[in-house]
Amino acid sequence: RVLVGTRVDQNHANFVMAYNMLTGIRFTVSRCNAKVDRDLVDSDFQTSQKFSFDVTGNELTPSAKYDFKFKDYAPWVFRHLRRIFKIDPADYLMSLTSKYILSELGSPGKSGSFFYFSRDYKYIIKTIHHAEHKFLRKILKDYYEHVQDNPNTLLSQFYGLHRMKMPYGRKTHFVVMNNLFPPHRDIHRTFDLKGSTIGRDFREEDLKNNPRATLKDLNWLRRDLHLEFGPTKMKNFAEQIKRDVALLQKLKIMDYSLLVGIHDLGVGNEENIRNKTLQVFQPGGESPDHDPQQTQGLQQQGSDPSQRGSASLQRVPSMLTRTPSKMETARKAKELRQIIKNQKPIPMDQTVSKMPEEVLESKKGFYFYQDDGGFRATHEDDRPGEEIYYLGIIDCLTHYNMIKRTEHFWKGLSNPKSQISAIPPEPYGDRFARFISGITKTREAADAEKLAESTN
Ligand code: ATP
Ligand code: CA
Ligand code: CA
Repeated sequence: RVLVGTRVDQNHANFVMAYNMLTGIRFTVSRCNAKVDRDLVDSDFQTSQKFSFDVTGNELTPSAKYDFKFKDYAPWVFRHLRRIFKIDPADYLMSLTSKYILSELGSPGKSGSFFYFSRDYKYIIKTIHHAEHKFLRKILKDYYEHVQDNPNTLLSQFYGLHRMKMPYGRKTHFVVMNNLFPPHRDIHRTFDLKGSTIGRDFREEDLKNNPRATLKDLNWLRRDLHLEFGPTKMKNFAEQIKRDVALLQKLKIMDYSLLVGIHDLGVGNEENIRNKTLQVFQPGGESPDHDPQQTQGLQQQGSDPSQRGSASLQRVPSMLTRTPSKMETARKAKELRQIIKNQKPIPMDQTVSKMPEEVLESKKGFYFYQDDGGFRATHEDDRPGEEIYYLGIIDCLTHYNMIKRTEHFWKGLSNPKSQISAIPPEPYGDRFARFISGITKTREAADAEKLAESTN
């Protein structure tokens, strides 16, 4: 199994930033969880709390010279959200502990956001723009109520909203959310579908260099693919899409997409997953470079130039360029190395072998993640099919006002209106839902259509 992302180790340009983000999450989440649970009140949706930390991750008095500042937003709301999404608090902290360094997906989109996977691959940290951050705070109550009414929502599951700032650095806003893709299964094809055709094409010839690239609407249509659901799953899927899209329309959100990862059971996993699933980095113990077992997976990752994120790794998006100077960062990294050295190592084998079951445990009970963390294809008689889909609606924090008005204007000049991706939220949602319902078909129905076409 080829690993996704680049390990953020001590030599990585964003090591200090990633380490601080994890330290802040750990501190604020344990702080809130330590309190006796209570019902939410209206003010919980607006509250935020600021903390200053020294380099060891200890909280400082506000006036002291700080190493980084951390702001935690609506801690009680996210605590409740995590419970609705059945995230075990101890497990959450374990996955995001700073003793384990994350892996970085660089900046896969145009937006300049960075993506970090927790080391067990369950969670994603996405840096977001200030406008998206403000917007999430504004809609948090609507989102919360929607999730309460729709625990099986296909929308991104948000587990935390935070801000981190280093001296001389810019404020970095980020969310913690679910990784739709499983740690224990190969994803053979990935699609990001918006229901638009303009500019929604990944150059097929570039697939040679980048076999794991995320493909788009036109690539999907060209392959004549379908989400193959029998009557029961199709009905429930369509119903949830309808409800989720209705919320997005109401909140004037657009530019979101359906992310679909396909695992073909006939192909299976490339290799024994247990050995290679994880991006293992054990700061307290041996350096990965000296551990043959650990480096095996990492070398494989490093030697694959096609990998998502690897090319863009060194490109630091503009929103992060005002991070501290190189010297500052180097000094800080050195200090952190020292601290990490003194931390007790965690026995690796144990955690590694526990991982896949744990993942399934946390997704249990969620309709669209019921089949090995995903949603398995079914036939006309609801018999299980040959593929597992890992899917969800992602990138749903773009309010129509943000950037789209200008884009709409420019693209509108040369393209037919309904085809461009930047149309207002109502038609955007309608088109999105229509597209998805159009590609949801049983294999039997799709085959019958093909047959009819060929005989015509
Ligand atoms: P843009 O605004 O240019 O579309 P972005 O930076 O907002 O980009 P997203 O659209 O959120 O980024 O995601 C980019 C890619 O990252 C997706 O196509 C997908 O491959 C991966 N990704 C995003 N969210 C998830 C998730 N929850 N689980 C798995 N993969 C994800
Ligand atoms: Ca996107
Ligand atoms: Ca985006």
